[in-house]
Amino acid sequence: MKCVLLTLFPEMVRPHFDHSILKRAREKGLLDVEIVSLRDFGMGKHHVTDDVPYGGGPGMVLKPEPIFAALEAIRKTHPAGDFRVLVPSPSGVVFHHAMAFDFSKEEKVLVFICGRYEGIDARVLEGIAGEEISVGDYVLTGGELPALLMIDAAMRLIPGVLGATASLEEESFSQGMLDYPHYTRPEVFQGMKVPEVLLSGNHAAIEKWRREAAFLNTQNKRPDLLTSAK
Ligand code: SAM
Repeated sequence: MKCVLLTLFPEMVRPHFDHSILKRAREKGLLDVEIVSLRDFGMGKHHVTDDVPYGGGPGMVLKPEPIFAALEAIRKTHPAGDFRVLVPSPSGVVFHHAMAFDFSKEEKVLVFICGRYEGIDARVLEGIAGEEISVGDYVLTGGELPALLMIDAAMRLIPGVLGATASLEEESFSQGMLDYPHYTRPEVFQGMKVPEVLLSGNHAAIEKWRREAAFLNTQNKRPDLLTSAK
């Protein structure tokens, strides 16, 4: 999976890729991340990237020229039509598991344009045929966390990124259900016992318990998922 993050705050996102599974995925060549500073494409000697909104009102708006210039530069390093532009925005389609799966298989470069302030000049979206994606019905200060969130959710679905691929199939949302509860040692903690069946060594019984527990968990917490569960 190849991603480009266009951001005003490269130092905020860079460390995220230097740890744990993301770092290992990069080392294995399964994830390629390029971080592009929007400031480098800012205008004039002060590298201006934002301006006041037409019509008045609070806050600043990201100007279109630096974003177009940055995209042009990104386009030069990748063949035309070889990338997919994603714009994190509260107005977008809400991100979910199937989209993460789709990104994980995407052969095109995923270019994330991270908004800030009041957002991005509307002509950017008009001019680039980007896809607006929201991470939920709330407002964050920037598009960096949504971009990181989407990359994280997608890259762990790439075969080889996580150790045991079998566990992915049992995870929340992969079968349209939530996960079953997990337990580790000790067997009894503050009077609470691990379910007996998990200590039995009977794999068929454990499998059955887990499927039932996943179903009950989904029924209790997210019954809406059951209408499309496999
Ligand atoms: N004025 C915008 C509105 O009311 O919809 C909010 C702009 S927000 C303060 C600045 C940037 O954060 C947005 O351009 C977007 O990139 C990002 N952002 C904020 N909330 C988001 C969300 N729920 N999903 C995706 N991106 C979000």
